[in-house]
Amino acid sequence: MYPEIRLHVAGEWRGARSGETLPIMNPATGEEIGRVPKAGTADLDEALEAAERGFKAWRKVSAFERSKILRKAGDLMRERAEETARILTMEQGKPLVEAKGETLAAADVIDWFAEEGKRAYGRVIPARGDGVMQLVIREPVGPVAAFTPWNFPINQAVRKVSAALATGCSVILKGPEETPASCAALIQCYLDAGVPGDVIGLVFGVPSEISEYLIPHPIIRKVTFTGSTAIGKLLAGLAGQHMKRVTMELGGHAPAIVFKDADLDKAVKLLTGHKFRNAGQVCVSPTRFLVHDSVLEEFTDKFVAATKQLKVGNGLDADTTMGPLAHDRRVSAVEGFVQDATANGAELRTGGSRIGNQGYFFEPTVITNVPLSARIMNEEPFGPIASINGFSDDEAAFEEANRLPYGLAAYAYTRSTDIAEKLASRVESGMISINHLGLALPEVPFGGIKDSGYGSEGGSEAIDAYLNTKFVTQARA
Ligand code: NAD
Repeated sequence: MYPEIRLHVAGEWRGARSGETLPIMNPATGEEIGRVPKAGTADLDEALEAAERGFKAWRKVSAFERSKILRKAGDLMRERAEETARILTMEQGKPLVEAKGETLAAADVIDWFAEEGKRAYGRVIPARGDGVMQLVIREPVGPVAAFTPWNFPINQAVRKVSAALATGCSVILKGPEETPASCAALIQCYLDAGVPGDVIGLVFGVPSEISEYLIPHPIIRKVTFTGSTAIGKLLAGLAGQHMKRVTMELGGHAPAIVFKDADLDKAVKLLTGHKFRNAGQVCVSPTRFLVHDSVLEEFTDKFVAATKQLKVGNGLDADTTMGPLAHDRRVSAVEGFVQDATANGAELRTGGSRIGNQGYFFEPTVITNVPLSARIMNEEPFGPIASINGFSDDEAAFEEANRLPYGLAAYAYTRSTDIAEKLASRVESGMISINHLGLALPEVPFGGIKDSGYGSEGGSEAIDAYLNTKFVTQARA
């Protein structure tokens, strides 16, 4: 059964003070499966006061003790993985196996931050004068406002909340209204593990109303957002006006370059799996496939054949390999991208249409010969569409890879160490994965450059964003 959704404010799970709610739809059926409370300013004020109280208490808990509590939260995520994965699939649509993978990966993220929080070391700098001590100490930045989207309702939240908690910050999370239950299940694990109720707030509502209230509020000291570049720029601007620390994990438009010496079978296998994972609603999804002309037809035929093997259906069915899109806005957006590309001369090799009239299903789609003027070659499609174009010389591929203002992920397949070295140094992206898929582990940096944002949500860089640096110098009295 789909659970009842509540806000978590000042240690209490409850509805909005106004009693207002918003609908939650099952994307596989298009039916309403629940209601999410719509927080107003009364709820946000209570959440802010709690975050301030929570921060004062939590920062005094030793890093060692915080780590123990977080490790327990990670264990609870693992114990509850089956149940959490089911509600994630019900509200978001992804196949159960992906939902379970997301839940278990979140437990690893919690474990990573639990350990990393213990290592928020400062340093001692040799002083110029006798008897002078110079210390650099790290302090938690303060109450955090975090905003996370619906594509990975657990994994987008777990990185932010775990980093905040590990460093001694309190956090108010505005979770995804479309997919609130799995996000709430994550928060319940932290609470059951022993994180005090004031330290984590979970709110839902109208995103713009909440961000416009929380970001300028003097209690909030840091803002972290995952979502589209357009909204990220708005929120970063607002945070800038109020001088708040910011982490922005925004959209991408990843090039996937297949050179003439690539292992084509490996490239096809990994890239089809990665393209259609979560129905393409992934910020690091491969989007612009650039394939050397000499292997273009072979690659495309194999890619189309592998795409046709996908079984689209309700994520709760065991044989489903691609679920529906997460909400109806995405169906019209994805339809628009395909229509625009074909109207501009692209060739539709498979897919291209909505499936049925119940739920938000869309065919896994491959288009080729896509002109650079087509919208899909410039805007993030965030859906199950692969656009494949050829290139004749490697320089042209590098140029195309760097053409857009996005710079999140990039992929490449080649047996040449020379090309691999050039890729690493010349592709403008926060992450590049060559001959395999190796992104998004908790222990490695995760983040973009250019319009894809700034800051990292993985690796040891990730906790820096939640820490202030203080310099203390002291001489003998
Ligand atoms: P959207 O741009 O309206 O929203 C994206 C996310 O931002 C949602 O979670 C939404 O709740 C939140 N949001 C929107 N306006 C906000 C505001 N004023 N303050 C705070 N949060 C706000 O679009 P959408 O229809 O939900 O998704 C479409 C696009 O968003 C996609 O095409 C993709 O580019 C982007 N997106 C990116 C990611 C990611 O992982 N980077 C995740 C989800 C969506």
